[in-house]
Amino acid sequence: MPGPLRAQRIDLHIHTSLSDGKGSIEDVVAAARRRGLELFAITDHYEESPCPGRRAISRAELPAYLSAVGGAGAIRGVEVEIFEDGSPSISREARASVDFVIGGLHRLRGVVFWDDPTPVLDPRAFVESMRIAASRAMESGLLDVLAHPTWLPEDLRADSGRLLTPDWIRSLIRSAADNGVAMEASGVWRVPDEAFARECLRQGVKISIGSDAHDPGSVGRTAYAIALLRAAGAGDEDLFIPAGADLAP
Ligand SMILES: [Zn+2]
Ligand SMILES: [Zn+2]
Repeated sequence: MPGPLRAQRIDLHIHTSLSDGKGSIEDVVAAARRRGLELFAITDHYEESPCPGRRAISRAELPAYLSAVGGAGAIRGVEVEIFEDGSPSISREARASVDFVIGGLHRLRGVVFWDDPTPVLDPRAFVESMRIAASRAMESGLLDVLAHPTWLPEDLRADSGRLLTPDWIRSLIRSAADNGVAMEASGVWRVPDEAFARECLRQGVKISIGSDAHDPGSVGRTAYAIALLRAAGAGDEDLFIPAGADLAP
């Protein structure tokens, strides 16, 4: 049957109040169960806040976080920061203790991607820095998923179709393919677009479904991602599933 039928039961990107979300682990898990999700992950920010004023789980807090998340029945993930030089905010040792790692770019060249209308002076150089940082992060071997690819700072969003050229897209996805990293389809940020998803399928890159919920009411809000997968012609076999996790057929 066409279409990724299992996608409707998956949400692999959820935050709690342990980083910058609003609900507790229990609130979020209850919301996931109410929505009929069968495969869901809590992925709080780890080691580095995505922008000033937001919290992240520290290295010292990681063991307690992982046992609380696992104990509540969720997959144990983290979202790490991709720094400007492409290094992700997680060590090899910490990575070995989590079920999977999402890496995201949230600030670059002094511009924060959220709620920051700062003008970007050289948009082409900016998106090139994004591509290089994300590609290096994928080459580090520390990421399983690249979060919200093609998500840009506010000042550039309206122009993303022109700035993110077919070469830019192909190159980023090539890095993912070479390093076995999945690309995320983001429910909240509504990225990437269909051309990007089709290129993922062409290069054999899996797609991870995530709401990026920061409150229990947004858990499982993945309608954009599911519509995108359907439009791109993806099937269940194209979905990223964390190692060791499974979903009934
Ligand atoms: Zn993020
Ligand atoms: Zn997130």
